[in-house]
Amino acid sequence: MKANELVKKALEIGTLIPAFNIPHIPMVEPIVEAIKDNNSVAMIQVARVEWLNFQSKSLEDVAKEYHKYKKPGYTFLHLDHIPVIDESNQHVDYMTYIKSACDVGYESVMIDGSRLNLEGNIAVTREVADYVHSFDIACEAELGAVMGHENEPISLSYEEIFEKRIGFTDVDEAEKFAAESHCDWLSVAVGSIHGAVAESLRDQKKPEGKIDLEYLQKLFEVTQIPLVLHGGSGIPKSYIQKAVKTGIAKMNIATELRQAYEFSLRDDNNLSKAQDRVYEVCSKIIKEDLEIADNYDLLIKVN
Ligand SMILES: [Zn+2]
Repeated sequence: MKANELVKKALEIGTLIPAFNIPHIPMVEPIVEAIKDNNSVAMIQVARVEWLNFQSKSLEDVAKEYHKYKKPGYTFLHLDHIPVIDESNQHVDYMTYIKSACDVGYESVMIDGSRLNLEGNIAVTREVADYVHSFDIACEAELGAVMGHENEPISLSYEEIFEKRIGFTDVDEAEKFAAESHCDWLSVAVGSIHGAVAESLRDQKKPEGKIDLEYLQKLFEVTQIPLVLHGGSGIPKSYIQKAVKTGIAKMNIATELRQAYEFSLRDDNNLSKAQDRVYEVCSKIIKEDLEIADNYDLLIKVN
Protein backbone atom coordinates (compact mmCIF):
# COMPACT_ATOMS: atom_id res chain seq x y z
CA MET A 1 0.00 0.00 0.00
CA LYS A 2 1.19 3.53 -0.77
CA ALA A 3 1.61 6.02 2.07
CA ASN A 4 -1.03 8.30 0.57
CA GLU A 5 -3.62 5.54 0.52
CA LEU A 6 -2.69 4.51 4.04
CA VAL A 7 -3.25 7.94 5.56
CA LYS A 8 -6.51 8.40 3.66
CA LYS A 9 -7.70 5.08 4.97
CA ALA A 10 -6.74 6.04 8.53
CA LEU A 11 -8.85 9.19 8.18
CA GLU A 12 -11.76 7.22 6.76
CA ILE A 13 -11.87 4.65 9.54
CA GLY A 14 -11.03 7.12 12.31
CA THR A 15 -7.62 5.92 13.36
CA LEU A 16 -4.16 7.38 13.46
CA ILE A 17 -0.80 6.75 11.84
CA PRO A 18 1.92 7.76 14.28
CA ALA A 19 5.24 8.92 12.83
CA PHE A 20 8.23 8.35 15.11
CA ASN A 21 11.24 10.62 14.73
CA ILE A 22 14.83 9.38 14.54
CA PRO A 23 17.32 11.81 16.11
CA HIS A 24 19.77 8.91 16.68
CA ILE A 25 20.33 6.12 14.16
CA PRO A 26 20.22 3.18 16.66
CA MET A 27 16.60 4.12 17.49
CA VAL A 28 15.38 2.76 14.14
CA GLU A 29 15.59 -0.94 15.01
CA PRO A 30 13.69 -0.94 18.35
CA ILE A 31 10.97 1.36 16.97
CA VAL A 32 10.43 -0.84 13.92
CA GLU A 33 10.29 -3.92 16.17
CA ALA A 34 7.78 -2.29 18.53
CA ILE A 35 5.52 -1.35 15.60
CA LYS A 36 5.57 -4.88 14.19
CA ASP A 37 5.29 -6.69 17.55
CA ASN A 38 2.18 -4.67 18.37
CA ASN A 39 0.66 -5.50 14.99
CA SER A 40 0.38 -1.79 14.26
CA VAL A 41 1.21 0.51 11.34
CA ALA A 42 3.44 3.56 11.70
CA MET A 43 6.01 5.74 10.03
CA ILE A 44 9.68 6.17 10.75
CA GLN A 45 10.72 9.73 9.99
CA VAL A 46 13.61 12.14 10.25
CA ALA A 47 13.69 15.92 10.03
CA ARG A 48 16.60 18.04 8.82
CA VAL A 49 16.94 19.57 12.30
CA GLU A 50 17.63 16.07 13.65
CA TRP A 51 20.67 15.41 11.50
CA LEU A 52 21.93 18.94 12.18
CA ASN A 53 21.26 19.19 15.95
CA PHE A 54 21.36 15.50 16.89
CA GLN A 55 23.09 12.37 15.53
CA SER A 56 20.98 10.98 12.73
CA LYS A 57 23.71 12.07 10.27
CA SER A 58 21.68 12.44 7.08
CA LEU A 59 18.47 11.37 5.41
CA GLU A 60 20.47 8.79 3.47
CA ASP A 61 21.91 7.27 6.67
CA VAL A 62 18.47 6.95 8.22
CA ALA A 63 17.13 5.33 5.02
CA LYS A 64 20.00 2.86 4.98
CA GLU A 65 19.32 1.82 8.58
CA TYR A 66 15.59 1.68 7.89
CA HIS A 67 16.03 -0.64 4.90
CA LYS A 68 17.94 -3.06 7.14
CA TYR A 69 15.06 -3.46 9.58
CA LYS A 70 11.84 -2.38 7.83
CA LYS A 71 8.70 -4.51 7.98
CA PRO A 72 6.77 -4.03 4.75
CA GLY A 73 3.10 -3.27 5.42
CA TYR A 74 3.81 -2.31 9.03
CA THR A 75 6.38 0.43 8.60
CA PHE A 76 6.67 3.34 6.19
CA LEU A 77 9.52 5.81 5.67
CA HIS A 78 8.73 9.53 5.77
CA LEU A 79 10.93 12.61 5.44
CA ASP A 80 9.86 15.11 8.10
CA HIS A 81 10.42 18.93 8.03
CA ILE A 82 12.52 20.10 5.14
CA PRO A 83 12.24 23.83 5.78
CA VAL A 84 12.44 26.37 2.98
CA ILE A 85 13.66 28.89 5.55
CA ASP A 86 15.14 27.20 8.58
CA GLU A 87 15.17 27.78 12.35
CA SER A 88 18.06 30.26 11.96
CA ASN A 89 16.30 32.12 9.12
CA GLN A 90 18.61 30.69 6.47
CA HIS A 91 17.35 29.68 3.04
CA VAL A 92 17.61 25.94 2.48
CA ASP A 93 18.28 24.14 -0.80
CA TYR A 94 15.15 22.08 -0.21
CA MET A 95 14.88 20.44 -3.65
CA THR A 96 18.24 18.70 -3.21
CA TYR A 97 16.95 16.97 -0.06
CA ILE A 98 13.61 16.14 -1.66
CA LYS A 99 15.22 14.62 -4.74
CA SER A 100 17.63 12.59 -2.64
CA ALA A 101 14.73 11.30 -0.49
CA CYS A 102 12.93 10.09 -3.62
CA ASP A 103 16.10 8.29 -4.71
CA VAL A 104 16.70 6.42 -1.44
CA GLY A 105 13.22 5.08 -0.78
CA TYR A 106 11.22 7.62 1.22
CA GLU A 107 7.51 7.01 0.65
CA SER A 108 6.37 10.49 1.62
CA VAL A 109 8.04 13.85 2.30
CA MET A 110 7.23 17.05 4.13
CA ILE A 111 8.05 20.45 2.70
CA ASP A 112 7.80 23.16 5.34
CA GLY A 113 7.19 26.54 3.75
CA SER A 114 5.49 27.86 6.87
CA ARG A 115 7.99 30.70 7.28
CA LEU A 116 7.01 32.07 3.85
CA ASN A 117 3.91 34.13 3.11
CA LEU A 118 0.84 32.28 1.87
CA GLU A 119 1.57 32.64 -1.84
CA GLY A 120 5.21 31.63 -1.37
CA ASN A 121 4.24 28.60 0.69
CA ILE A 122 1.70 27.51 -1.93
CA ALA A 123 4.28 27.90 -4.71
CA VAL A 124 7.05 25.81 -3.07
CA THR A 125 4.61 23.20 -1.84
CA ARG A 126 3.21 22.82 -5.33
CA GLU A 127 6.72 22.51 -6.78
CA VAL A 128 7.59 19.73 -4.31
CA ALA A 129 4.22 17.99 -4.49
CA ASP A 130 4.28 17.85 -8.29
CA TYR A 131 7.83 16.51 -8.24
CA VAL A 132 7.23 13.73 -5.70
CA HIS A 133 3.85 12.78 -7.15
CA SER A 134 5.64 11.80 -10.36
CA PHE A 135 7.21 9.01 -8.26
CA ASP A 136 3.93 8.19 -6.52
CA ILE A 137 5.31 9.68 -3.28
CA ALA A 138 3.02 11.66 -0.97
CA CYS A 139 3.58 15.27 0.12
CA GLU A 140 2.88 16.84 3.50
CA ALA A 141 2.99 20.62 3.96
CA GLU A 142 2.63 23.02 6.88
CA LEU A 143 0.58 26.15 7.29
CA GLY A 144 0.74 28.17 10.50
CA ALA A 145 3.53 27.90 13.04
CA VAL A 146 3.91 24.90 15.32
CA MET A 147 6.25 26.45 17.90
CA GLY A 148 9.10 24.86 19.82
CA HIS A 149 11.96 24.53 17.32
CA GLU A 150 13.26 28.04 17.98
CA ASN A 151 16.90 28.40 18.91
CA GLU A 152 16.04 30.85 21.70
CA PRO A 153 13.52 30.28 24.49
CA ILE A 154 10.28 32.06 23.60
CA SER A 155 9.09 34.68 26.03
CA LEU A 156 5.43 33.65 26.10
CA SER A 157 4.08 30.86 28.26
CA TYR A 158 2.36 27.91 26.62
CA GLU A 159 -0.96 29.09 28.12
CA GLU A 160 -0.59 32.49 26.48
CA ILE A 161 0.22 30.96 23.11
CA PHE A 162 -2.83 28.73 23.39
CA GLU A 163 -5.27 31.40 24.66
CA LYS A 164 -4.21 33.92 22.02
CA ARG A 165 -3.97 31.26 19.30
CA ILE A 166 -0.52 32.51 18.37
CA GLY A 167 0.73 30.92 15.17
CA PHE A 168 -2.52 28.99 14.66
CA THR A 169 -3.32 28.09 11.06
CA ASP A 170 -5.70 30.66 9.57
CA VAL A 171 -8.97 29.10 8.38
CA ASP A 172 -9.32 31.11 5.14
CA GLU A 173 -5.68 30.53 4.28
CA ALA A 174 -6.09 26.82 4.93
CA GLU A 175 -8.99 26.62 2.49
CA LYS A 176 -6.97 28.28 -0.25
CA PHE A 177 -3.86 26.27 0.58
CA ALA A 178 -5.63 22.92 0.40
CA ALA A 179 -7.20 23.86 -2.91
CA GLU A 180 -4.07 25.20 -4.61
CA SER A 181 -0.91 23.66 -3.14
CA HIS A 182 -1.35 20.05 -4.41
CA CYS A 183 -0.28 18.71 -0.97
CA ASP A 184 -1.77 15.45 0.27
CA TRP A 185 -1.66 16.10 4.02
CA LEU A 186 -1.51 19.34 5.94
CA SER A 187 0.25 20.01 9.22
CA VAL A 188 -1.84 22.52 11.15
CA ALA A 189 -1.10 24.59 14.22
CA VAL A 190 -3.97 24.12 16.69
CA GLY A 191 -2.22 24.20 20.05
CA SER A 192 0.37 21.44 19.98
CA ILE A 193 4.05 22.37 20.23
CA HIS A 194 7.30 20.74 19.22
CA GLY A 195 9.67 19.54 21.91
CA ALA A 196 12.65 21.87 22.23
CA VAL A 197 15.70 21.01 20.15
CA ALA A 198 17.94 23.87 21.31
CA GLU A 199 20.93 22.53 23.24
CA SER A 200 20.04 24.37 26.45
CA LEU A 201 16.39 23.26 26.48
CA ARG A 202 16.25 19.77 25.03
CA ASP A 203 16.48 17.85 28.32
CA GLN A 204 13.58 19.68 29.91
CA LYS A 205 10.30 17.94 30.51
CA LYS A 206 8.01 18.91 27.68
CA PRO A 207 4.90 20.83 28.82
CA GLU A 208 1.60 18.99 28.49
CA GLY A 209 0.03 20.12 25.23
CA LYS A 210 -3.58 20.83 24.36
CA ILE A 211 -5.56 20.93 21.13
CA ASP A 212 -8.19 23.53 20.26
CA LEU A 213 -10.69 20.98 18.97
CA GLU A 214 -13.32 23.45 17.77
CA TYR A 215 -10.71 25.28 15.80
CA LEU A 216 -9.41 22.02 14.36
CA GLN A 217 -12.95 21.17 13.27
CA LYS A 218 -13.15 24.43 11.29
CA LEU A 219 -9.85 23.69 9.57
CA PHE A 220 -10.95 20.22 8.61
CA GLU A 221 -14.27 21.47 7.24
CA VAL A 222 -12.55 23.83 4.81
CA THR A 223 -9.63 21.58 3.79
CA GLN A 224 -11.16 18.09 3.68
CA ILE A 225 -7.74 16.44 3.50
CA PRO A 226 -5.93 14.39 6.16
CA LEU A 227 -4.46 16.73 8.77
CA VAL A 228 -1.23 16.17 10.67
CA LEU A 229 -0.52 16.95 14.29
CA HIS A 230 3.09 17.80 15.10
CA GLY A 231 4.46 17.76 18.62
CA GLY A 232 2.49 14.69 19.71
CA SER A 233 4.55 13.89 22.83
CA GLY A 234 2.81 14.99 25.99
CA ILE A 235 -0.70 15.58 24.62
CA PRO A 236 -3.27 13.87 26.84
CA LYS A 237 -5.09 10.90 25.36
CA SER A 238 -8.52 12.54 25.59
CA TYR A 239 -7.44 15.26 23.15
CA ILE A 240 -5.85 12.83 20.75
CA GLN A 241 -8.93 10.61 20.59
CA LYS A 242 -11.11 13.60 19.72
CA ALA A 243 -8.59 15.01 17.25
CA VAL A 244 -8.67 11.72 15.36
CA LYS A 245 -12.42 12.18 14.91
CA THR A 246 -11.74 15.69 13.62
CA GLY A 247 -9.38 15.19 10.71
CA ILE A 248 -6.06 14.25 12.30
CA ALA A 249 -4.76 11.12 10.55
CA LYS A 250 -1.01 11.34 11.22
CA MET A 251 0.70 12.38 14.41
CA ASN A 252 4.39 13.05 14.91
CA ILE A 253 6.07 11.82 18.07
CA ALA A 254 9.65 12.78 18.82
CA THR A 255 10.55 14.06 22.28
CA GLU A 256 9.33 11.16 24.41
CA LEU A 257 11.38 8.57 22.52
CA ARG A 258 14.40 10.81 22.10
CA GLN A 259 14.60 11.52 25.81
CA ALA A 260 14.06 7.84 26.69
CA TYR A 261 17.06 6.96 24.53
CA GLU A 262 19.33 9.81 25.60
CA PHE A 263 18.61 9.53 29.32
CA SER A 264 19.13 5.78 29.32
CA LEU A 265 22.40 6.09 27.41
CA ARG A 266 23.58 8.79 29.80
CA ASP A 267 22.71 6.76 32.90
CA ASP A 268 24.08 3.38 31.83
CA ASN A 269 26.33 4.05 28.85
CA ASN A 270 24.92 0.89 27.29
CA LEU A 271 23.58 1.07 23.75
CA SER A 272 21.52 -2.09 23.80
CA LYS A 273 19.90 -1.08 27.10
CA ALA A 274 19.01 2.29 25.55
CA GLN A 275 17.51 0.50 22.55
CA ASP A 276 15.47 -1.74 24.88
CA ARG A 277 14.20 1.37 26.61
CA VAL A 278 13.11 2.85 23.27
CA TYR A 279 11.30 -0.40 22.46
CA GLU A 280 9.45 -0.31 25.80
CA VAL A 281 8.41 3.32 25.51
CA CYS A 282 7.37 2.94 21.88
CA SER A 283 5.25 -0.11 22.75
CA LYS A 284 3.63 1.81 25.59
CA ILE A 285 2.78 4.69 23.23
CA ILE A 286 1.26 2.32 20.66
CA LYS A 287 -0.71 0.22 23.15
CA GLU A 288 -1.69 2.62 25.90
CA ASP A 289 -1.44 6.22 24.72
CA LEU A 290 -2.71 5.80 21.17
CA GLU A 291 -4.48 2.44 21.49
CA ILE A 292 -3.55 1.47 17.95
CA ALA A 293 -2.18 -2.03 18.60
CA ASP A 294 -3.63 -4.41 15.96
CA ASN A 295 -4.29 -1.52 13.59
CA TYR A 296 -2.56 -3.59 10.93
CA ASP A 297 -5.67 -5.75 10.68
CA LEU A 298 -7.86 -2.70 10.00
CA LEU A 299 -5.56 -0.78 7.70
CA ILE A 300 -3.68 -3.36 5.69
CA LYS A 301 -4.90 -6.91 6.16
CA VAL A 302 -8.52 -6.36 5.12
CA ASN A 303 -7.46 -5.44 1.58
ZN1 LIG B 1 6.96 19.28 13.22
